[in-house]
Amino acid sequence: MAGLLVAAAGPEIERLIALLSKLPGLGPRSARRAGLALLKRREQLLLPLAQALGEAAERVRVCQVCGSLDTTDPCAICADRERDGSLICVVEEVGALWAMERAGAFRGRYHVLGGLLSALDGVGPDALKVGGLTERAHDPAVREVILALPATVDGQTTAHYLADRLAGAEVAVSMLARGVPVGGELDWLDDGTIAQAVRARRPA
Ligand SMILES: [Zn+2]
Repeated sequence: MAGLLVAAAGPEIERLIALLSKLPGLGPRSARRAGLALLKRREQLLLPLAQALGEAAERVRVCQVCGSLDTTDPCAICADRERDGSLICVVEEVGALWAMERAGAFRGRYHVLGGLLSALDGVGPDALKVGGLTERAHDPAVREVILALPATVDGQTTAHYLADRLAGAEVAVSMLARGVPVGGELDWLDDGTIAQAVRARRPA
């Protein structure tokens, strides 16, 4: 560990704050604030959090079908017979799956890639769950694979790679539309978004 995060504190507190500082979005300063908030609110925060962490560590699993996280394997979405098994929505990470579920607009199943292809970061196809996707796409029950990947260079590179890999399967491959967000004023949008929206226009 490079340098003490907290002077004048015991090793337990130092370790707590060092671990907190590894969380996304938390640097050393916000980790100290979070650690202090936890220690000061023992009953309301520290103990319930310790219990929740213990339960999550013990019970949460990666779904062997789709790569999502749940306490059951297969996960609740893969096991739900009410969902449309002919649609597979490919997402980068579980956070994107949760966002899709919050929107409530998709009732098919998912496939979590676990990242994106990136020449810059040296992420190749072997680092992603691509094999499982092509295998699932060859299931005759599957009709369409929707690539719900970010509108970034890596996202689009990955989408084109997957479209190529899925060419051998008898499925339609689609991507999410890009364009004007709900409630979006044209004045506030960047040029790329407006250009995409014009290209993706539809009959009124
Ligand atoms: Zn699953």
